[in-house]
Amino acid sequence: MKRRSELAIIGGGISGCSLAHELDEAGWRVHLVEQHNELAMEASGNPLGVIMPVMTAEKTKISELSLRAFTYSSQKARQLLGWRPQGVLQLLHPQAKVSKFLKGISRDVIPSHFFQKLSSSESSKISNVHLDFESIFYPEAGAFSPRDFCKALVSSPSIIKHLGIKAIHIERSTHSWMIFDGARNLIVESEYLIVANAYEAKYFFTDELCMVDRVRGQSCQLRPNEASKALRTVICSDIYFSPAQDLHSLGGSYDRLTQEPILKESDNDKLVEKLSEFFVRAKELKVESSRAAFRCTSPDHLPLVGPSRRHQNLYYFLSMGSRALCYAPYFASKFKDQLCLKRLQEDDRLTMDWVNPNRFPSNLIQQEATQV
Ligand SMILES: Cc1cc2nc3c(=O)[nH]c(=O)nc-3n(C[C@H](O)[C@H](O)[C@H](O)COP(=O)(O)OP(=O)(O)OC[C@H]3O[C@@H](n4cnc5c(N)ncnc54)[C@H](O)[C@@H]3O)c2cc1C
Repeated sequence: MKRRSELAIIGGGISGCSLAHELDEAGWRVHLVEQHNELAMEASGNPLGVIMPVMTAEKTKISELSLRAFTYSSQKARQLLGWRPQGVLQLLHPQAKVSKFLKGISRDVIPSHFFQKLSSSESSKISNVHLDFESIFYPEAGAFSPRDFCKALVSSPSIIKHLGIKAIHIERSTHSWMIFDGARNLIVESEYLIVANAYEAKYFFTDELCMVDRVRGQSCQLRPNEASKALRTVICSDIYFSPAQDLHSLGGSYDRLTQEPILKESDNDKLVEKLSEFFVRAKELKVESSRAAFRCTSPDHLPLVGPSRRHQNLYYFLSMGSRALCYAPYFASKFKDQLCLKRLQEDDRLTMDWVNPNRFPSNLIQQEATQV
């Protein structure tokens, strides 16, 4: 295949890997720069992540988008990982915040083949554990390892991986972008640059990205007991709990105040407490390990995908929030079409407008800048 221009991506999490995959397939010469010696060591390094559409009682941008993204991205996971969905039960638990949105969910928001409303006895039957709550069941949703997915996405030898290299300086020359490490060694020079290193992107382009924020989250892994081993589907309320392969995954906490990726015993306790609201024997399950990382977020909870307002041939691909498995592969494919100057269909054009990094009014940006 005749290769297109050279292009560099900073960040080897699910965002950077999804982009590298799509752009490599479209014939670009892709450089992927990642500070760790392995891919997916930050937020994308959780042992398990859930992929499901975001549901709201009424049709919203987020519900519409997430449905399209879910369809594309879950198909990618099937194709690259041979993944088979376990199904996700979203419990209509009175204490879960999502319940109030989902009680009134209608077929106008989400086509009927995507979900079923279940009674508590039907929920127990499908999950194979006793549940006292009604639920919404998504048969095509489930969970898989984001790290395995990242590795599969960039398995092509034509993607040039610069692992163990932290991009410290970025400079623009007349025709290209140059990325340097801490010792001022030039790592890559390329015509296009895509910044996909989550919150850290803010350190390079503070003015344009001042509205980007981060939220610490913790998940843990639990040793199963006889009762919990029976679980067959992922269960979600405000948290998620997966069937045990070797261990169960339980996540995730939300902590806007802590700016260090530290582990907190109290977060594990709260997660197990929440689990015990629907799984009575939760406190018998031993916590084997836990992990903390940052979600990168935007003010309207949608990603930032598209061109910089100020710099030529610079693009952002950030702020996947809690939905990276759903959003990143899908937006990477739309981004590729945009970059290849393909004529986007009306729906896709609208979608890319919704996530355009320049969508925030400049007064919001200024206001946020004074708060940073
Ligand atoms: C507890 C928890 C539970 C979650 N659960 C889910 C879930 O169930 N489903 C879901 O879809 N999402 C979930 N998420 C969110 C999801 O993990 C993130 O949205 C996703 O991993 C973000 O991917 P990313 O590639 O944008 O960022 P990251 O995974 O953070 O990747 C950014 C990469 O950039 C690299 N980098 C940073 N700066 C530099 C630099 N200067 N030079 C080189 N490399 C650099 C980092 O090392 C990192 O590898 C969860 C998050 C948390 C914290």
